[in-house]
Amino acid sequence: MTKVILHCWLNLRQKRALLQSYESVPNAFQAQFSLEEHQKAVRYAVTKLNFSSARIIFSTIVMVTWLVTGVMGLLDSILYVFVNDPVWQTLAFFGVFSLVEGILSLPWSLYSQFVIEEKFGFNKMNPKLFITDMFKATLLSVILGVILGYPFISLFHYVRGFWFIPAYLLFMGFQFLILWIFPTFIAPLFNKFSALSDESLSVQIKQLVEKAGFQSQGVFVMDASKRSTHGNAYFTGIGKNKRIVFFDTLLTQLTSGQILAVLAHEVGHLAHKHILKRLGVSVITTMIGFIFLGWWALRPDLVIDLGLSPSHGPTLLTGVWVLSLITFPLSPISNWWSRKHEFQADRYAVNETSAQDLGRALLELYRKNAGALVVDKTYASWNYSHPPLSERLQTMGYSGESSND
Ligand SMILES: [Zn+2]
Repeated sequence: MTKVILHCWLNLRQKRALLQSYESVPNAFQAQFSLEEHQKAVRYAVTKLNFSSARIIFSTIVMVTWLVTGVMGLLDSILYVFVNDPVWQTLAFFGVFSLVEGILSLPWSLYSQFVIEEKFGFNKMNPKLFITDMFKATLLSVILGVILGYPFISLFHYVRGFWFIPAYLLFMGFQFLILWIFPTFIAPLFNKFSALSDESLSVQIKQLVEKAGFQSQGVFVMDASKRSTHGNAYFTGIGKNKRIVFFDTLLTQLTSGQILAVLAHEVGHLAHKHILKRLGVSVITTMIGFIFLGWWALRPDLVIDLGLSPSHGPTLLTGVWVLSLITFPLSPISNWWSRKHEFQADRYAVNETSAQDLGRALLELYRKNAGALVVDKTYASWNYSHPPLSERLQTMGYSGESSND
């Protein structure tokens, strides 16, 4: 409850900050953005904030319904009748649960893609692609869910007591496997990846990447434009499977100097070992989470207090829910750490390329993506993994004028 109130309150704060700025472009951006562009960004952000508040209220209602109306207990006892094996019974419990949650979230995804994104001119998806995506994603999660779920629940059922130690090792191993196979096996199910065609840019990129002493499969261009006009770049994978991915939309929106600056920012994350650091932290926090689950499983009285029978499915599910409620207040810390990394990556990019190119690239991305120029500080500390644009430009020393023109 506190979580949903806090979430909506933060959304309201941000909405107020945005609407207060509606009549004029914020001072820092008057040279770069027209009033029209700024107002579109405000309307887009406000629409998404309203959507986000409505959605979190809805999912809280759904969660409470699962708990208080006895639906979860009912599902559990029905499966008890039909499935004999306790491991498959628990898997079926999670299967039906995820199916119901998936169906309930469908109207929200449809609305977000075909109403909000469409209205602001970002949607490129047709219903056919939406359905194939959904079908592929469902199939993938069923396969991966059984591959991980079966041994996981077997450990829970047969080992008891200290089940959470092997389960943790299994879970982490699975996480690493997914990270490793994601670029080569999973991502290509949804998008086409091709080599960068611009030769001189490729050479410059190669130099930049090699200078940082990093091994990778190289730079790939992803056909993001079939779903959305939003532009972005990211890197993915671990070990030798690392790759840098550019959205094709980004390539059409930026000059080659700017693309190089964005790439240098991504390389900066690698050079500063940000991925490794985050992985290291998640190894530890996940371990704490599993210790909590181990403790939770020893306290069937708590599950009974919630009005449920302490069978495997409800015990694990409520344990994960409670865990997500306790860890929620940690998000400002995680975001603060992530913003720190963004500044470091920016600094790296400025040293390798220039503040003018990086600054212009960011401004261009905000313009094309209708990114909000105005930010409420408290809202940002809970929700922003990236620093606000004005802070980034200021910190990197972007002066707003290029020496070239
Ligand atoms: Zn970054």
